[in-house]
Amino acid sequence: VWHSLAGCCRCSDVIRLAEEKEEANVYKAFLIKYGEIGIKGKNRYLFEYALMDQIKFSLRKVDGQFEVTKEQGRVYVEALTDYDYDEVIKALSRVFGIVAICPVVLCDNNEWSNLCQVTGDYMERTYPDQHLSFKVFARRADKSYPKKSMEIGADMGEYLLDRFPDMTVDVHNPDVALNIEVRERTYIYSISIPGPGGMPVGTNGKATLLLSGGIDSPVAGYMIAKRGVKIDAVYFHAPPYTSERAKQKVIDLAKIVAAYAGPINLHVINFTDIQLAIYDKCPHDELTIIMRRYMMKIAEHFAKKDGCLGLITGESIGQVASQTMQSLNATNAVCTLPVYRPLIGFDKKEIVEISEKINTYETSIQPFEDCCTIFVAKHPVTKPNLERIEKSELNLTDVIDDLMKTAIETAEVIRIRQNEA
Ligand code: ATP
Ligand code: MG
Repeated sequence: VWHSLAGCCRCSDVIRLAEEKEEANVYKAFLIKYGEIGIKGKNRYLFEYALMDQIKFSLRKVDGQFEVTKEQGRVYVEALTDYDYDEVIKALSRVFGIVAICPVVLCDNNEWSNLCQVTGDYMERTYPDQHLSFKVFARRADKSYPKKSMEIGADMGEYLLDRFPDMTVDVHNPDVALNIEVRERTYIYSISIPGPGGMPVGTNGKATLLLSGGIDSPVAGYMIAKRGVKIDAVYFHAPPYTSERAKQKVIDLAKIVAAYAGPINLHVINFTDIQLAIYDKCPHDELTIIMRRYMMKIAEHFAKKDGCLGLITGESIGQVASQTMQSLNATNAVCTLPVYRPLIGFDKKEIVEISEKINTYETSIQPFEDCCTIFVAKHPVTKPNLERIEKSELNLTDVIDDLMKTAIETAEVIRIRQNEA
């Protein structure tokens, strides 16, 4: 969870305090800020509804009842019951499209002296140190309210300066941006917890992730899902050369990715006979490339069948022999759908950082064999020649169609739900 407050020196204090307050449930609502989806013109409402749906899904596993509403270009989550603050923040921090989460104190009685009292109490509770500068950002959504926005800001500033001698006003670079929005009730907030950004899942079609048990492919899936893309997945296993534990690890990874990406249909393909045939009939230094080409073909079969518009892999240029430019060219040559490789320009270190942030790293490094590592040659080609690869594959002509057919027909589909991790 990204518990940092960019640009505010008191951020960690604020968040800790906010967490300590969880039992009191002082925050009855959360204002959800979204960025990119705000600029989609006429389609904006579609994005907003997708965002609201994703927020609702993510809150399902949190104890408590919540109402998600949309009002004047803003999305709010209101708590109808007591809830666990940490759990709510954790759930919302995984919803793509959210740029920031602002915990809100709701004031039911807008009468001015009461509003001052409640706002002052909020400031006192949230910033016990009180040595800070602030600026009031006031908004009067209820136009019948006797004070205009400017007046609300000025008068509230005055009240706070009176009540807290250690506070100052800084209109250019305040430590605390205190928002006061007068509607039927008044919304008071100043804390902003970063969300993951991106776009709500479901707003950008669907793609098929080639998901292995490694570090890279779960990160690749996360990154494409972050752009609003729904994910299906295929995993190739090779029993008895790869164990049930290796498969379970992939399922566990799919569950973690699903916490962000929503439900995933994971196709588990028995790849053993295809691998054995390749091993039998093709030059050993070309094994990995040929194997990867059949993986892509089978993944594409399921992608097309299930309405996916692309494939996703965790490949990165030069990471291993099968990911040189020549190897990628050979692998890519069998695909007709676009292949999305979001990690293509990333160093391993950068990929690891993301996998730690999204919580897949610990699972990815569990030591279970992968089907690629078992059949791997000692000296694989690093610059495969496409024509030679295609020629080597002719050795498979007699068997490969049947083997592919069987692999496809015997695929097991595991439905991974969103909140299993
Ligand atoms: P990863 O860490 O994602 O496993 P890797 O560094 O091990 O990647 P490769 O083994 O060359 O790299 O695999 C490259 C990509 O091919 C992976 O990122 C993944 O998308 C796909 N892939 C590899 N093995 C499998 C598998 N057994 N099942 C599904 N996809 C696979
Ligand atoms: Mg791998």
